[in-house]
Amino acid sequence: MKYVVSMEDPASHTFHVTLDYKPEKSDSLVLKMPDWTPGYYQLMNYADNVAEFSVKDSDGNALEWKRSGKTGWVIPTKAVKRLTVEYDVKTTRKFVATSYLDAEHGYITPASVFMYVDQKIKTPAEVTIVPYKEWDRVATGLDSIAKKRFSYSAPDFDILYDSPFLIGNLEELPAFEVKGIPHRFIGYKLGEFDKAKLMSDIRKIVEKASALIGDIPYKHYTFIAIGPGQGGIEHLNSTTISFSGEQLNARGWDGMLGFITHEYFHHYNVKRIRPVELGPFDYENGSRTNMLWVSEGLTVYYEPLIMKAAGLYTTDKMLEFFKNQISNVENKPGRLHQSLAQASAQTWSDGPFGRTGDEVNKTISVYQKGPVVGLLFDFAIRHETQNKKSLDNVMRKLYNDFYKKKNRGFTENELRETIAKVAGNPLEELFSYIYTTAEPDYKKYLGYAGLDIDTSPKEISETKDGVTVKRIEKAFTITPMDNPTELQKAIFAGWSKGGE
Ligand SMILES: [Zn+2]
Repeated sequence: MKYVVSMEDPASHTFHVTLDYKPEKSDSLVLKMPDWTPGYYQLMNYADNVAEFSVKDSDGNALEWKRSGKTGWVIPTKAVKRLTVEYDVKTTRKFVATSYLDAEHGYITPASVFMYVDQKIKTPAEVTIVPYKEWDRVATGLDSIAKKRFSYSAPDFDILYDSPFLIGNLEELPAFEVKGIPHRFIGYKLGEFDKAKLMSDIRKIVEKASALIGDIPYKHYTFIAIGPGQGGIEHLNSTTISFSGEQLNARGWDGMLGFITHEYFHHYNVKRIRPVELGPFDYENGSRTNMLWVSEGLTVYYEPLIMKAAGLYTTDKMLEFFKNQISNVENKPGRLHQSLAQASAQTWSDGPFGRTGDEVNKTISVYQKGPVVGLLFDFAIRHETQNKKSLDNVMRKLYNDFYKKKNRGFTENELRETIAKVAGNPLEELFSYIYTTAEPDYKKYLGYAGLDIDTSPKEISETKDGVTVKRIEKAFTITPMDNPTELQKAIFAGWSKGGE
């Protein structure tokens, strides 16, 4: 399937798509637009943005198509040797999970632009981008086709949908290599900041994250900075991140580097180390899993650890990070209504960070409770194994046993078995913090690392717009115990190195 995407009038916010395809012998075929993009767990109604749809055969005769359901187009193909399909994709929202085109740049979320033939997701695809005449760069994780300008190949539509495009007069920062593998950073409107320092810091993050898993599975990796905004989406060999020098300076380097660490570590955790439901994907209905607490929550867990290993974070900041996460979880009523497994599966209806408005107190966020149970699992595994194993061993084992050996995701039982094997103990109590709303025994698990935690309620007084509001909140201050045992000391020392 050969696609050409053009954008002659970018201010119209409209991409034009031409598909050239030789159909198999049959009476008809169905073209479908996905309804979501992996990494952003919401139905997006992408098909609604398609306009001016038309089909011709190789003699230029128009073919009578009809719509089928929310996402399909049925095309008669009896005695048709070749099809040319054309359509516009209107872009209305500047966001990491939608395509967007304006007078200055274009961003393609492939699941919202390229239709696939129903049941034929494994068909190879070729994409040629025709940038607006005043633009000179395209960034994507796809492999280029030799001697064809801005042309790229994807072995199938899973890979195509995993490979966004950024188009415009882009800026590329000096690339670096880790184990001989190139890592690029390309962006739109990067602005002013210490660019050499950013690349040097990202290099350290890549080195430490890849050392933690022990393998680099791609041939090249691209950080695609799509401009100011919120959020990022992970891919197999790229990530799209909302980014600008102004945001970096305002948000602070810690915040921005933590975010970049998160998106980068996802190429392991969720893209390769993945729940069985997350690939192959159901592009029409969404792919629900009870294990987003692993895919998102443990990715958040590893942010401060990898930053620490990379020398970009202190031990005090790690403890502060987890104090804040525990406070966020425990001071919200949602913790009594929704388990982590429920929050994982219900994100499709609740929204990425739980429900908002009047319903805000009925849900929790996997981004907050996920890293908290990650910490408890890590300390418990270290305790059970006399500090010989850690959560890192679980991540490596999931990567090797399922992604490398079986090229598939793991089930909930397989995750439990993997943890039980590494820890030598099924850690049932910790799983009750996943599947029920039981309050974690923080004192016990933090105690394994010689840490004390203050769970007593304290009065907090906050003054805003001249009004002082007092409320009772638990403090969750984490401090070292006075006389830790040798094992407790070793566990804390091992953990606070932040991995390899
Ligand atoms: Zn994430």
